[in-house]
Amino acid sequence: MKLCRFDEDHLGLVSEDESEVIDVTSALETLPALKWPLPHGDPLIAHLDELRPRIAALGLTGRRVPIHAMEFASPVATPSKIIAAPVNYAKHLDEARADQGINFGVAPKRIDQYGLFLKAASCLVGPSHGVYLPTTDRRIDHELELAVVIGRRGREIARSDALDHVAGYALGLDMTIRGEEDRSWRKSHDSFAVLGPWLVTADEIPDPGALEFSLVIGEQCRQAANTRDLIFDVPRLIEYASATYTLHPGDIIMTGTPEGVGPVVAGDIMKCTMSGVGSMNVAVHAMPYPAESSRIDQTPGRS
Ligand code: MN
Repeated sequence: MKLCRFDEDHLGLVSEDESEVIDVTSALETLPALKWPLPHGDPLIAHLDELRPRIAALGLTGRRVPIHAMEFASPVATPSKIIAAPVNYAKHLDEARADQGINFGVAPKRIDQYGLFLKAASCLVGPSHGVYLPTTDRRIDHELELAVVIGRRGREIARSDALDHVAGYALGLDMTIRGEEDRSWRKSHDSFAVLGPWLVTADEIPDPGALEFSLVIGEQCRQAANTRDLIFDVPRLIEYASATYTLHPGDIIMTGTPEGVGPVVAGDIMKCTMSGVGSMNVAVHAMPYPAESSRIDQTPGRS
């Protein structure tokens, strides 16, 4: 099942041939009403297993919209956190070692020496929102990654159980200002996490360690890789992350970028694709940041 979010608060089921989206928003009517204090995580993802039969039934009768007419928001609306893996492909380690524009004179380490890092949950957007470049002369790079969406709460999850905790997968962009500051600062500018184009449920991806993916700008293929080359594979990342953080439904793990990172400029379109997942085109915009961004309208109490 491929599930998308559109028009901010609508849930869509992507048709088998990916030509249409079927509006299945009314499946959400059975979600329990929330009251303070809200649980961590994303309510849709937390209740996805119960909702699936209703989503499937509505998929037969719901309003159908051609896919090219859709504006896709992040399929996960409210993750408690975005966890990300630094230097998790050997060839990206090689390029980081070779390029002072990436390493700023500090020898890059491997993931087992760095641990993980967090991106602010508030920087998450969908592909149709696009990335906004802060006004700076610094280099700002694309990093295309497999994103894992956690489906079940857990901590100290064993490698052998790890994939049972996955709700699904998506493409993730971990946008990055190069420099010497902490990663959580350089990688959490508003719109610096893109998730999309939809969530592919885990049952459709039997092996997350065999996914081909690429990022193209203009005619130039910048990144082309396969998740088989991850240093810490998906089960290991879940084991590693959950030894530190309780994982909540909707938490996102960006699994790390392969080689080929490079700068973007306003006007670029990042064409991202992954086998078994889908494709998304993400525009790069100059400032100003949209004042009435869709995220502002989600603030509780505003209508
Ligand atoms: Mn990254």
